Amino acid sequence: MNSSCQQNWPEIRCQYARHNEMPCKYICIDNNCKKKKIVCFRCFQDKEYHQNHQGLTIEEFKQKVQLRLENLFKLKQILQDSIKNFQSFIYKYEESVEALINKGKQYSSPGELLKIETIDNYFVLENDHFAPYMQQQLEKIRQRTDKITKFTQDFKFIFNEEDINKVKLKVIKMLNEKKQLEKPTDYTDAITELNKALKQYPTNCSLLSLKCTCLANQNQIEEAKKLNEYAFQINQNDETVLLFRAKLKTENKEYEECIQLYDLITEPNKYLAYYKLDSLIELKREAEVKKFLEQCDKQLGQSFKWSYEEHKKGSGKIRNEIQHPQPQQ
Ligand SMILES: [Zn+2]
Ligand SMILES: [Zn+2]
Repeated sequence: MNSSCQQNWPEIRCQYARHNEMPCKYICIDNNCKKKKIVCFRCFQDKEYHQNHQGLTIEEFKQKVQLRLENLFKLKQILQDSIKNFQSFIYKYEESVEALINKGKQYSSPGELLKIETIDNYFVLENDHFAPYMQQQLEKIRQRTDKITKFTQDFKFIFNEEDINKVKLKVIKMLNEKKQLEKPTDYTDAITELNKALKQYPTNCSLLSLKCTCLANQNQIEEAKKLNEYAFQINQNDETVLLFRAKLKTENKEYEECIQLYDLITEPNKYLAYYKLDSLIELKREAEVKKFLEQCDKQLGQSFKWSYEEHKKGSGKIRNEIQHPQPQQ
């Protein structure tokens, strides 16, 4: 992270008459608004200024910009590393191909050939595997980069929720049917279904999390972990991403990290609360267990304690199932 981007904002007071020098704690993020951007609460109520405009607190705005910046710095680093890697890859082959061309020129010139003491197996190869193979591989890389360029140009970062919900419902139904089966089950059909949708929406977190569940159920844990890491980078507040992550952390006995995930959720979540409590209990932090149970009681309703007891009783069974919130139909 580049800390030079973190600057303290001066405290600004609203200069509009009638706004009584109220502190300017908000930013108007309305795309069409041409008025000054740092505003007070009254500005959003005032017809003359930002009435009905969308706003964020300066804190929220700063956090969002900071997150974007961190990701862009990461991407910049990745691009620079890729240039280095790709260049050294090409140079390496360019040099050896150049050497082989020179040798061929020597072998094809009578004057040069007379001077040569020994002849190696340059001409022995019946087929030249190397050149066609390299050509084919490089062509594949080129096609891939063309595809990325086209995709990032067309990519509007807008999901068709209806489309996505159809896939989600279909896959959740498949998962529920498979759960009824006794023996280890194949999830290839569900994964194929998800891959089709992910081709169109490669950054949709609930689709990614469903795929993680399928992979984990098929014992492809490493794949599932990598995919969850990717989804976590896309959205650290997505509940499906956090739930799957919490499951991974608990199974890895990384309880401290599991507990911290709860702070990322934007709305209280029962299942994530279970994971946090499980982890606190594993770490024998009784005082915090008590405190967190009380907090959940307030946020998630009186029945929380009871449902957590049920969860503990059924541990192993319930705990091993990933909960996917049903999409709105
Ligand atoms: Zn104002
Ligand atoms: Zn405005």
